[in-house]
Amino acid sequence: MTAFRTLDQADVKGKRVLVRVDLNVPMENGRVTDATRIERVLPTIREIADKGGKVILLAHFGRPKGRDPKESLKPVAEAVSTHLGKPVFFADDCIGEAAAQAVNGLKDGDVLLLENTRFHAGEEKNDKAFVAELAKLGDLYVNDAFSAAHRAHASTEGLARVLPSYAGRTMQAELEALTKGLEAPKRPVVAIVGGAKVSTKIDLLENLVKKVDALVIGGGMANTFVHAMGLGIGKSLAEKDLAATALRIIEQARESNCAIILPVDGVCAYEFKAGAQNHTYGIDAIPEDQMILDVGSQSVERVSAAINDAATLVWNGPLGAFEIPPFDQGTVAAARHAAQRTKEGKLVSVAGGGDTVAALNHAGVAESFTYVSTAGGAFLEWLEGKSLPGVEALKA
Ligand code: AMP
Repeated sequence: MTAFRTLDQADVKGKRVLVRVDLNVPMENGRVTDATRIERVLPTIREIADKGGKVILLAHFGRPKGRDPKESLKPVAEAVSTHLGKPVFFADDCIGEAAAQAVNGLKDGDVLLLENTRFHAGEEKNDKAFVAELAKLGDLYVNDAFSAAHRAHASTEGLARVLPSYAGRTMQAELEALTKGLEAPKRPVVAIVGGAKVSTKIDLLENLVKKVDALVIGGGMANTFVHAMGLGIGKSLAEKDLAATALRIIEQARESNCAIILPVDGVCAYEFKAGAQNHTYGIDAIPEDQMILDVGSQSVERVSAAINDAATLVWNGPLGAFEIPPFDQGTVAAARHAAQRTKEGKLVSVAGGGDTVAALNHAGVAESFTYVSTAGGAFLEWLEGKSLPGVEALKA
């Protein structure tokens, strides 16, 4: 990832600053139920406002087909205002007269949120005319929405091409963490990849084996690998039709000198149910009528040993069915070990993508990791080695 401009290079005083943020927050009955995303964008908003810029927030919400009051950002403006501790003005449209009037009424240091960018088809089409309409409202563009950076939309990519553009503080933190994780990591690097299926993570696995020194494969997807190697996996979740893919990934790892670490034992049960009676078996002795729901303690020891050998850890996906105890134990033990090594200053740990954040929160260690990305799709595309249009457009 080459250099990108940050707020350190931006002279925002007296300027109209269009700031792309992620405010796609979960809502129930018009109330925000989880304010994590709001919290994450506050530093950038505060910094620009404190430096005397006029903050004009751009965001999408949901997947509306045209204007839809159910997907209005208006209630979100109120929530941002509460967390920010100052008024957040709102405009009923992100372009045109309503937006222009609201922007013209701003004083230095004021904050305005424009209505859902996806009310206009031009947003997702990255339409030039729509980009130009948005660009009229600002002097500078700041992108603080890493989680939307895998999409080349008008407000995530188009604007960066027509206005002087900068990474916001949250985007900057994410990019710096990702650089430490895979682009310029301290070696050795170990990756842990778990989760349900190989099919959703083929690109990711193929990219990682080229870049890391050791790859731990856990969770349901490990069953597909174990099956491909000719061992019985009973009734475990697996994609048997992907056996050839699994073997190809193992071969690619060998060619790249990447060690593959698969489970050597599994916690098995007759049913996928919390508290189900369970027993740990060696990976070559899985009973035909049971399913593997977690990695066993010997496997956890191997994962911990791999973490001990590593200077950098990249983690995506749980090692077992962590939502149904006691099948959370492998994930929890490995996560706590990684957190401990990080606290001791021996490990840089970067994690993210879907259930990983929930799993680390469940283990009570998300705060102790070097960086936990809540970006979902964008984080996964980065793990797949794809370039992210929103990030590319910010590069100097
Ligand atoms: P993913 O979204 O691909 O990261 O997958 C996460 C899901 O994988 C979680 O809901 C886990 O319960 C599930 N999972 C992990 N290990 C297993 C397993 N051994 N058997 C069944 N499901 C699993």
